[in-house]
Amino acid sequence: VTPSTTARKAIVRIPTTLIGGLLILATVAAAREYQSLASTPSTRQTAPSSTASFAAGQPPRGPRLVPGAGDGALPDRTTVFEDDLPGVARLDAALLGALRDAAIDAANDGIEIDVNSGWRSAAYQERLLDEAISRYGSQKEAARWVGTPETSAHVSGDAVDIGPSRAIAWLSRRGAMYGLCQIYRNEPWHFELRSTVIEHGCPPMYSDPTRDPRMRG
Ligand SMILES: [Zn+2]
Repeated sequence: VTPSTTARKAIVRIPTTLIGGLLILATVAAAREYQSLASTPSTRQTAPSSTASFAAGQPPRGPRLVPGAGDGALPDRTTVFEDDLPGVARLDAALLGALRDAAIDAANDGIEIDVNSGWRSAAYQERLLDEAISRYGSQKEAARWVGTPETSAHVSGDAVDIGPSRAIAWLSRRGAMYGLCQIYRNEPWHFELRSTVIEHGCPPMYSDPTRDPRMRG
C-alpha cells in the first residue's frame, strides 16, 4: 500500500461518513415532522365544543367563565382533606365529615378517595350545562347528565364526584356504613349523604337524574 493509495481511500471514506450523517439528520427531521403532524389533529379535536353552539344555531354567548378554584374547580388528585379549596371546603359539613371518615378507612385498605368535583358555583354549573347541551345536542339529553344551577346537588354542596375507579368500587360497597350513597345508575362516581340509611342500606338508584323528583324543578 503506497501513501497515495491510503490518501485516495481516505478521500473516498469522508463522503461516505458525511452521507451517513446526513441520512441520520434527515431521519430525525422526518420524525419531528411526523410528530408535529400527528399532534395537530389532537389539538383540533378540542375545538368543536366551543363551536358546536354555532352549529346548533344558537347565538354566541358572552365571554365564558373559565372556572377557577373559587368556582369549585379542583386539581387532579384532590383529597377530601383539602380545606383551602372551596370545591371541598364548601361541601355540606355532614357530607364532608362522612367522606373523611370513609377516606381514612379506605386509606387503611390502600385506597385513596379523590374528589373530582364537589361544591360548584352556579356559574360553573351553568357552564357545565351549556357544554353538555352542546355535546349531547339537546337540553333533554343533557339533563340526563348535568343538573341546572337551581337543581344540582353540587351547587348546594350536597354531592361529590369521586375517583379513581377503585375508590368508586370501594365506596359503593362500604358507603352505606357512612351514609354515603350512589344516587344515579348512570353516574356511579356521584355520592350524596343519606344519613338515615346507615342501618338499612342505600335506597335503590334512579336510572339517571331525569328520574329524580328533585330534578323536576
Ligand atoms: Zn355528581
